[in-house]
Amino acid sequence: VPALESSGTCPICGDGAAFVAHNPWLRDNFLCQRCGSLPRERALMAVLNERFPLWRQGVLHESSPVMRGVSSRLAAECPNYTPTQFYPDAPLGSAPQGVRCENLECLTFPDGSFDLHVTQDVLEHVLDPAAAFREIARTLKPGGAHVFTVPLVNKHWPTVVRARYRPDGGVELLAEAVYHGNPISEDGALVTRDWGFDICRFIFDACGLFTDTIIIDDLSRGIRAEYIEVLVTWKPRPEA
Ligand SMILES: [Zn+2]
Repeated sequence: VPALESSGTCPICGDGAAFVAHNPWLRDNFLCQRCGSLPRERALMAVLNERFPLWRQGVLHESSPVMRGVSSRLAAECPNYTPTQFYPDAPLGSAPQGVRCENLECLTFPDGSFDLHVTQDVLEHVLDPAAAFREIARTLKPGGAHVFTVPLVNKHWPTVVRARYRPDGGVELLAEAVYHGNPISEDGALVTRDWGFDICRFIFDACGLFTDTIIIDDLSRGIRAEYIEVLVTWKPRPEA
């Protein structure tokens, strides 16, 4: 017997979708039976479609995508979609394997380049997230936004820093090393922060922008799981 099943409209692949989980950990197991998407991917796509319905006409950047789910649709339908990966050995701004190399902590894009930055479960792996949020803010156009998922695992407690840069640029571990899957490295990606809801304050302190935390629970769209908040950081337009 499945742990959970529902049917309805998949924000990624459309009407007539069925969603089934064979394991109670819905975050990684409540899959669309047609496109294979995860709940957090459907939540992010729903937010893009509802809040940024003109995303296909925008200039989009996605850091560190896995080419599935949302990322495949953005790549297929948005002519100005730029995916980037951080290859530690490649020059920033180069494209050694056909994909541009960028470090979120020091992007090579000019100020005001993008309507939307998209990241999916990336910001829990960045060693200097304040720098990343500043760079995201810098490279957004006025009126643009960063739309992202990140696991907010410490819902009612402060964010816990697990790893950070040492002054010499190396990595200092403050907690046991935990790794998530990494699309470009078999070593996995080190978890640097167990974020809490205080991430919004952290972003404001880093770059002066406000962030909305959007929680969707909607079985008709297959959106139910642990840690599927979608965050939207807004860069305001100058007042006229
Ligand atoms: Zn689907």
